[in-house]
Amino acid sequence: MNISTLAKILGVSVSELRDTGTDKRIPGFAGRNTRIPYNSALEITKVLRPDKAAKLQNDDKIYLPSSLTVADFAETIGKPSGTVVKTLVMSGIMVTLNEKIDYDTAALIAESLGVEVFADNIQTDNSNISSSDLNYRQTFELQGEMGKVVSRPPVVTVMGHVDHGKTTLLDTIRKTNVVAGEAGAITQHISSYQIDYKGNKITFIDTPGHEAFTAMRARGTQLADFIILMVSATEGPKPQTVEVIERAKLSKTPVIVAINKVDLPEADPERVKQEIAAFGLVPEEWGGNTPFVPVSAKLGTNLDALLDTILVHAEVADLKGQSEVLGQAVVVESHLDSKQGVETTILVTKGELKVGDNIRSGESTAKVKKLLNTEGKFISEGKLCQPVVIYGFSNVVAIGEIIQSYPTMKEAINAASMEAAKKVAKKGNIVQTNIIAEGQINLVLKADVAGSLEALKETILKIPQENTSIVIKSVGVGPVNESDVDFAKTSKSTILAFHTSLLSGISKQVENAKVNLIQSDIIYELLNWIEEQILANTKHEIKITVLGTAKVLALFKSEKTSIQVFGAEVSNGKIFSNKNLRLAGQDTSSVLEIVELQRNKEKVKEVNAPQQFGVSVSGKVKIKIGDILECIDETVVK
Ligand code: GDP
Repeated sequence: MNISTLAKILGVSVSELRDTGTDKRIPGFAGRNTRIPYNSALEITKVLRPDKAAKLQNDDKIYLPSSLTVADFAETIGKPSGTVVKTLVMSGIMVTLNEKIDYDTAALIAESLGVEVFADNIQTDNSNISSSDLNYRQTFELQGEMGKVVSRPPVVTVMGHVDHGKTTLLDTIRKTNVVAGEAGAITQHISSYQIDYKGNKITFIDTPGHEAFTAMRARGTQLADFIILMVSATEGPKPQTVEVIERAKLSKTPVIVAINKVDLPEADPERVKQEIAAFGLVPEEWGGNTPFVPVSAKLGTNLDALLDTILVHAEVADLKGQSEVLGQAVVVESHLDSKQGVETTILVTKGELKVGDNIRSGESTAKVKKLLNTEGKFISEGKLCQPVVIYGFSNVVAIGEIIQSYPTMKEAINAASMEAAKKVAKKGNIVQTNIIAEGQINLVLKADVAGSLEALKETILKIPQENTSIVIKSVGVGPVNESDVDFAKTSKSTILAFHTSLLSGISKQVENAKVNLIQSDIIYELLNWIEEQILANTKHEIKITVLGTAKVLALFKSEKTSIQVFGAEVSNGKIFSNKNLRLAGQDTSSVLEIVELQRNKEKVKEVNAPQQFGVSVSGKVKIKIGDILECIDETVVK
């Protein structure tokens, strides 16, 4: 059973639970396990809340560990050991009572004996929360000058299929928990923020969706401690829901599922649970590790439970960070504001980031001119896990990029030039050039925001290119406009419009200019298109192997039908009746097809060196006595 669920049932904190469990020497409480064996849960319940033990005991689910002896298994499922051994043997598993079987085997045998069992061990379950993962978020990894190691607030990101309520949730939580700042300081709506909830801070990072996720992962930065997966209770999982689940698994980010829109009459949270569980996120109440919280983001219903769940899991994760060291941060969003200049939202991941700091991001350096919290108030420093808006960069910086501060500007500049040198050294096969050649896909990339654009670019960069090179001719944020189309036409490029619209009248212009435009909100659709082009562009090569050579000794007949008959002798290798001949060293334009191969007037399939043979061939090339012919094998390779 999950330790946080147990803590909730018993009305104690997770750390109290751990301490008591360890004191009483109850198995499973030492270390950072999030799963507590059922028997241990029962034991500690008897200690802490005897009144609740009966309830737990009445839980008729049978939990099994990842492996157990056949005898223990029989006892746990309440079947005679003889029956269990017999069933095992009949299934081809020869074991004795004292031998161990694994959970999967036990579950199969239990099923055939009509008993339902559940995994009582995190390893047997695909769910995402595990304490070791929780302790490891690369961006917060404790390293370098240590400063002071402190507990830090959890960083949460909200993801899900479009329209499942991500924005509404972020807005409602913000409205209920954050005091609005003075308006006007920030021109753009920034959805990343920090709340103070029951005396604890929680940081919400709004990324421009899955794309930012990709970009961050591409840079090896994993920012969020938890993903809140918004799933509409009326619609259930949709393609982007599944995408989030897959990516969360890859990045080992624990997921908290918020089943949203439960206020709607057609809401069916139970069905949604089942559908999500099918993707490996098993609800805690079914013995899995994924918390599911039914909410209405619009009405604010049960959002406290969602925040409580975050806090409980954050406590289990025991998140740590470094303070009192030179600041480090990760870029969450960056864009150019016509009045304010480059506005960059960052999350401080180490130390403190202060006004006046000398900072570097990739190859860019800057002095921090001003800092705002996400409520629009000027602040002098951004603290660990705080999202802040920073001004000072002269260019938009890449999402997911690390910002590091240095004691002096000279050091920042040195680090930036080293970064530039490294980049030149490992320049990949994306060429930003104007040469338009065959086997080249030219692209004009457009996206709604810098984050999406960055993600798209990053993902395209990863496509293996081999014979086709991908050339990004231009990139831009905003709807596809007239000059994009003009430029795509002159540069023979395809416009990839990701998450963005077309200005009015552009469809017509695209049609007239015969420009190729692919528009989609799903990154994979755009990537699929590129991959299709690469495949179509891939040239088919014919690989030729010479199997044998022969010298022409005599010409017998040259028919009008272009069939030639001649006698020859194999000099090397073999000549096969089902292969072709060509003049030695020439290309395949001189190919002659063998009609019949003869030896001693008998039809044969092959002749070997140094045999003499007769052959009739069809083909345009005229054979002369003394010609050297090659028997060739042609295979098509991509
Ligand atoms: P996003 O695309 O995931 O950011 O979804 P939005 O937050 O924009 O929500 C999409 C639509 O669903 C909007 O019309 C919201 O008002 C509505 N919506 C969001 N949450 C709820 C909810 O809890 N209940 C109901 N009835 N509607 C909701």
